[in-house]
Amino acid sequence: MPNPINDIVKLFYPENCYVCGKPLKNVEKMFCTNCLFNLPLTNNHLYPENKTTELFYGRAVINYGLSLFSYNKASEYKNLLYSLKYHKKTEIGFELGKFLGLAIKESPYITDIDAIVPVPLHPKKMKIRGYNQSAWIAKGISSILNISVDEKTLIRNTHTKTQTKKTRIERWENVKSVFDLSSQNFEGKHIILVDDVITTGATIEACINAINEKTKVKITVATLAIA
Ligand SMILES: [Zn+2]
Repeated sequence: MPNPINDIVKLFYPENCYVCGKPLKNVEKMFCTNCLFNLPLTNNHLYPENKTTELFYGRAVINYGLSLFSYNKASEYKNLLYSLKYHKKTEIGFELGKFLGLAIKESPYITDIDAIVPVPLHPKKMKIRGYNQSAWIAKGISSILNISVDEKTLIRNTHTKTQTKKTRIERWENVKSVFDLSSQNFEGKHIILVDDVITTGATIEACINAINEKTKVKITVATLAIA
């Protein structure tokens, strides 16, 4: 439907594609058609074994793992993760979370989910940033699956420094025993553990091991991206 006022506003304040930065056309939302069409989807959910699942072999026991898309350092798609994490673009998490929810729904390897659990941010970080990007992805998944998000059971113990410049071992040292459970809520359940991106997998590995240590639970890992 034509929306002249919206057109005028956009002329002065054009919204740009979160991936390539080009101005969006009126029908486009967040991503230009080209970037949306070329999103490097993994189609992980169609395969019993995939990169995300395999990453945890010998490190942590999971039921299954999947990531929606993959990117490398040179890819413009990494802008999505950056804007979601540091520029308060929570709608990226929610909208792409819906895509992830659809992949989960379609996958024959993921059934009978009881709760969607975002990897928690430390309360101090939460206070600074104001939101947990993984919780927004979880909300997107929840809107497709009609399963609730649990942000209370899995908790974070101590403040950890930013991980960007650490080696894999240092990262692991940094995150181990950081996570804990506040109750036995997960006992006997199947949870989807949600994060924005997997790089080394150290954070998620620490989460899984903390959960498995305390309770008997089936864990599926779901992330927007794998680097
Ligand atoms: Zn674009």
